[in-house]
Amino acid sequence: MAFKLPELPYSLSALEPHISKNTLEFHYGKHHQAYVNNLNNLLPGSGFENAGLEDIIREANGGVFNNGAQIWNHTFYFTTFSPDAKGKPEGSFAGLIEKEFGSFDDFKAQFTTAAATLFGSGWAWLVRDNNGALSIVKESNAGNPLRDGLTPLLTCDVWEHAYYLDYQNRRPDYLKAYWDVIDWNIVAGRFDKV
Ligand code: MN
Repeated sequence: MAFKLPELPYSLSALEPHISKNTLEFHYGKHHQAYVNNLNNLLPGSGFENAGLEDIIREANGGVFNNGAQIWNHTFYFTTFSPDAKGKPEGSFAGLIEKEFGSFDDFKAQFTTAAATLFGSGWAWLVRDNNGALSIVKESNAGNPLRDGLTPLLTCDVWEHAYYLDYQNRRPDYLKAYWDVIDWNIVAGRFDKV
């Protein structure tokens, strides 16, 4: 089946000034779209013609895995953001973060360090395991924790294309802005859905 670029639940300028329209035009409009086009071109004869993206992430290798995982990762990343972001989690999910990391600020510091120290291109993730425990993991390139049986709750794209237009080489400045667009109700909903 042919994959399609999913619609964003906000306008391309909605996340300004944290993430600019210019960045979304390239990151969503060109890069995310290119992964969709690449996967559709690679599928015929791959054995994954009728597979969903999560099956591709768990089972495929090479270009089919790389492009399939990048579609899923970007959709997950972009749909975590909201122009009405509140800055921190509330309710029971806030309690889980505190239990696991000490405080929300400690969690932010640990996640930011993971994202800042990821060498080259990749993704930092907050995940839950089957027992409901939270942890932070780093994945290179298109890596996705679903492959290790973990459930992604939050991700940060640290490929340079995610921030270069707005922050040039300053990944720490991008990581600071990142926290201002996260919709914690969406993150908490992913925890509850398991
Ligand atoms: Mn990206």
